Amino acid sequence: MSDAEPDVTVHGSGEPEVAVVGGIHGDEPSGVRAVERLRAAGLPLERGVKLVVANPPAVAAGERYLETDLNRSFPGDPDGGLEERLAARLRAETGGLPTLALHATHSTTEPFALAEHTRPAAYELAARLPVRRVVDPHPVADGDFRNGGPVVAVEAGCQGTDAAAAEAERQARAFLAAVDALPGDPRPDADRTRDYYVLEGAVEKPPGADYELLATNFERVDAGEPFAVAGDDPLVAPRSFYPVLMSECGYADIFGYRASRVGRSLDGALAALGVDR
Ligand SMILES: [Zn+2]
Repeated sequence: MSDAEPDVTVHGSGEPEVAVVGGIHGDEPSGVRAVERLRAAGLPLERGVKLVVANPPAVAAGERYLETDLNRSFPGDPDGGLEERLAARLRAETGGLPTLALHATHSTTEPFALAEHTRPAAYELAARLPVRRVVDPHPVADGDFRNGGPVVAVEAGCQGTDAAAAEAERQARAFLAAVDALPGDPRPDADRTRDYYVLEGAVEKPPGADYELLATNFERVDAGEPFAVAGDDPLVAPRSFYPVLMSECGYADIFGYRASRVGRSLDGALAALGVDR
């Protein structure tokens, strides 16, 4: 029996120069649906594009992953467990290509982008997508999808919804326009302000309780303010933070992440982060 591998199709003319990846998490069907719609759309592509479903066995099972979280399994291992092998294959398939990874969340319906400021090409690409917020996950995310090229992730909305599938397709089309694979302007909303955040750490859940999240993602929680309830106990912020990817049920052990806001423009964020351009 052949080993599980990413489901890859190639579109447009010439060698693939760009990739769009859905299904890194098998319980986020929106990215898979977006990839399927793009495959069927007859896009007027001006560059070669790879469209990828990253973890078909997890997608078939409707599970986030089967052995290990694929988005924590990079760089991968051809001789490792299922997701480690898939990570190695995905890296080989998309190596060096500007790549959009499509995700969905329990935390918010509004799309946002994730990219590392230490990889300016990815960061600038994220800032060209039709999103209001760009989050740098680097200090927290270990083993997430990277392929040596500029990788941008988008959280397209609420897991399992039609709205997230439509948003994932919209973001993918905007990404393809941003890398000149599709004609048109990726960001017709060019004047809209963007907020830039850096993740600083996870927000732990006390074990074995019922949880209620009081905070709203991307709305600042002040020091001393309760941000959640565990059982009957309010959880109070020791210092102010911006909640990102926080929900009651999205992760087993954590609510999500605390972030700081580093700027309200690309130039401002890069200056605050000490990046020379
Ligand atoms: Zn995901």
